[in-house]
Amino acid sequence: MMDVQRKLEILADAAKYDASCASSGTEKRDSSDGKGLGSTSPGMGICHSYAPDGRCISLLKVLLTNACNYDCLYCVNRTSSNVPRARFTVDEVVKLTIDFYRRNYIEGLFLSSGIIRSADYTMEQVVSVARKLREEHLFRGYIHLKTIPEADDALITEAGKYADRLSINIEVPEEASLAKLAPEKDVRAIRRTMGRLRLKLDEAQENNSSNDKTITKAKPPRFAPAGQSTQMIIGADAADDKTILHTSANLYGSYKLKRVYYSAFSPIPDASRALPLAAPPLVREHRLYQADWLMRFYGFDVGEIVDESAGMLPLDIDPKLAWALRHRERFPLDVNRASREDLLRVPGFGRKAVDRIIATRRVTSIRAADLARLHIPKNKALPFIVLSDHRPQPHLLDGAKLAERFRPKATQLGFGF
Ligand code: SF4
Repeated sequence: MMDVQRKLEILADAAKYDASCASSGTEKRDSSDGKGLGSTSPGMGICHSYAPDGRCISLLKVLLTNACNYDCLYCVNRTSSNVPRARFTVDEVVKLTIDFYRRNYIEGLFLSSGIIRSADYTMEQVVSVARKLREEHLFRGYIHLKTIPEADDALITEAGKYADRLSINIEVPEEASLAKLAPEKDVRAIRRTMGRLRLKLDEAQENNSSNDKTITKAKPPRFAPAGQSTQMIIGADAADDKTILHTSANLYGSYKLKRVYYSAFSPIPDASRALPLAAPPLVREHRLYQADWLMRFYGFDVGEIVDESAGMLPLDIDPKLAWALRHRERFPLDVNRASREDLLRVPGFGRKAVDRIIATRRVTSIRAADLARLHIPKNKALPFIVLSDHRPQPHLLDGAKLAERFRPKATQLGFGF
C-alpha cells in the first residue's frame, strides 16, 4: 500500500497546475478565545508568502485524487495520461492539514480533485474534508474548495458553509475550444453553477447586512465569505488577449467573481497534437494580470486596454503605458488639478499614489521633487504630467522616440563563459 508521504508527493505535484488560490478577502477568524484551531488573520505565527504575481503559496494545495474519469487534453491528470495515480482518504487530508497547520507550515487548505465515480460522489468527499476540519477539529484556518459544476445543489450549499472560497474553473476563454479540448465538460453547467454560487453569495451578503443587531435573530447561513474565483488557461488555444479579457469582463460582471486567475499553459508529457508544443511566454500571463487590474481598479473598459487592431497586449511595456502612448492627446495632465479618474490613468501612478497626491495637494501644490516621496517612478510619469515646476517639452510627448524610451534595452546574448 502506498504511504501518505508518497501520496503527498504525487497529489501536491498534480495540484500545482491550478493557479486559482489566494487567501485574501475572507472574514476574520481566530482561536484566541481558546476554542478551535487556527486563524485567518495575518501574523499569529503563520507565514504568509506570496509569489510575485500574487499567488498565495502558504496553503496546503493538494488533490484528493489525481485519478479522473475525464480526458481534458490540457490536463496531466486526464484519464489517458500515463502518470502514477494516488488517492487520499478524507481522514488523511484532514490529518495532514492539522499537522501542517500546527507546525506553521501552512495557513490553510486548497483542495481539488479529479472526478471519480460521479460528480456527486467526488464533491461529497471534498466536502467531507472541510466538514471534519470545521466540525470535529474546530479548524478556523482558510479553506478553498474546488467545486464540481455538475454536483448537487445541496452539496454546493454545504461546501459554502465550510469553505472561505469556492472556485470553478472556466478552463479556456472560448466555448468552442472547451468543446475541443475538454469534450466531457459542459460550459453551460459551469456557468449555471457559477450563477448559483453568485445567488447564494448575494443571499448570504444580504442576510448579513440586513441582520439588525437590536433584534435577536438566527444567524444567517454562512456561504463562502471570500467569494468565488476561476482560472483560465492561457495559450492552450488560439484565443488572443482581447478575447481573454472580454471573457474575464463578462465573468466579473455576470457572476461577481473575486478573481480570474490566468495560468500560462505548460506542455505536459504525452500531450495531444491539438495542443501547442511550447508554453506561451510567462510575461503574457503577467500582462494579463496587469490588464485585469486596470479593469477592476483603474476604471478602464476592456475595449480600451487592448489595441483593437492588434488583439494582443504588448509584452515589452505594461498595458497602462501602452494605452497612454496610444492616447497622447489626453496628456500632459495637471497633477494638481486632475480628477481621480484621470490621475489613475497616468503611467506609474498606482491607486495608493493617487490617494497620496489628492491628500497632499489639499495642503500644498505638488512639485517634481515630491514624486519620490509619493512613491511614483519619475522617469515613467514625467513625460505625461504637469507639476508646479515641470511641464514636458511638447516634442517629447509627441515624438516617436517616447515609446522607445520605455522599451527594455536590447542586450547582447552572452556565450556562457
Ligand atoms: S476534470 Fe479536472 S482533473 Fe479531470 S481531466 Fe479534466 S481538468 Fe483534469
